[in-house]
Amino acid sequence: MRNIAILGSSGSIGKNALWAASRFPEELGIFGLSVHSDIDALSEQIALFHPEIVCVADKIAAAELARTLNGSKPIILSGEHGLEELASHPQIDIVINSVVGFAGLKSTLAAAGTGKRIALANKESMVAGGRLVKDIAESHNAEIIPVDSEHSAIFQCLKSGRTNDIRRLILTSSGGPFRNYPVEKFREITVDLALKHPTWSMGRKITIDSATLMNKGLEIIEAVYLFDFPEDRIDVVIHPQSVVHSMVEYIDGSVIAQLSRPDMRLPIEYALFYPERRGLDIADLDFNMKFSLDFEPPDNHKFPSLNLARQAVRVGNTAPAIFNAANEIAVDAFLNGFIDFPGIFSIVDDVLSSAEIIQADCIESIIEADIKSRESARTIVGRFEK
Ligand code: MG
Repeated sequence: MRNIAILGSSGSIGKNALWAASRFPEELGIFGLSVHSDIDALSEQIALFHPEIVCVADKIAAAELARTLNGSKPIILSGEHGLEELASHPQIDIVINSVVGFAGLKSTLAAAGTGKRIALANKESMVAGGRLVKDIAESHNAEIIPVDSEHSAIFQCLKSGRTNDIRRLILTSSGGPFRNYPVEKFREITVDLALKHPTWSMGRKITIDSATLMNKGLEIIEAVYLFDFPEDRIDVVIHPQSVVHSMVEYIDGSVIAQLSRPDMRLPIEYALFYPERRGLDIADLDFNMKFSLDFEPPDNHKFPSLNLARQAVRVGNTAPAIFNAANEIAVDAFLNGFIDFPGIFSIVDDVLSSAEIIQADCIESIIEADIKSRESARTIVGRFEK
């Protein structure tokens, strides 16, 4: 029996993770859950899954939950430290980190520093603190198994050859809802339109990131640190059906791909049970039906995101953290109607090109870079005229 904690249990990945874990009550115990502030969702999950410990990041919401539970189980932690305490709890074996954004970094580090398996859905912790996370994980024998569908695919494809024989990693991207949308009309894109993703159903932040292709940019950086692989040998290909989740090309020209219907429950269960696999009651790919798979190169003129991400990871150190923080502020500003859609690109570009890059060898310098980047992104948002 292994105990798990799901950080971000009210989100789309968190709910899927609960569903996946609850199918195996003999093998997995749901020990800890955390939410940012959605205590209604958490209360329902407490009633259903009886965790020992929960954490509510928002302290006011945590106090509210404590009032309603009135001293009965579970133990309630709160705030950033509460989340770290949960992620490093000695009775937890696997931490599923599906916190949204930079806020997930400290819990990834806490889990890594206590030698746990981390089922990592919080790509931002790998982007902002990749090198540090890997170093700490290695020195404490913590395993990082990606839950991001592309990185899960690459992780699986890497089983078919030696590291020295890899030519390149190929990340697939659905292309988002604006793949065929004229760039001249990008300024007219509304929040509602941007929130409609063609193939995946996800939270708001990642859905906007998918529409701008910033998500793919973040995923290039995530792959660099996760697989310790150079940026110039990580390619992106647009694949609108989201059936091929990513590929690895070996030096003999052989390309290994992982395919399935787009369903996050598969990479979640893979990360929980690796190296074993479990049967999932999701629909198989049906080869008795005619279907086709399309591939095309990304349009880097329309979507500057990939090149911005490449620029950040080539500079390295705190540049990826700066890239990520500027994007988080820009996405938030777009969702709140302060900037237009192309404003996201220009804010990230401006912040990245003017920021001071420092060494990213400790959490303090990464946090400092994150804060400064947010400040300068907010300043630019304030000047924005739609
Ligand atoms: Mg992904």
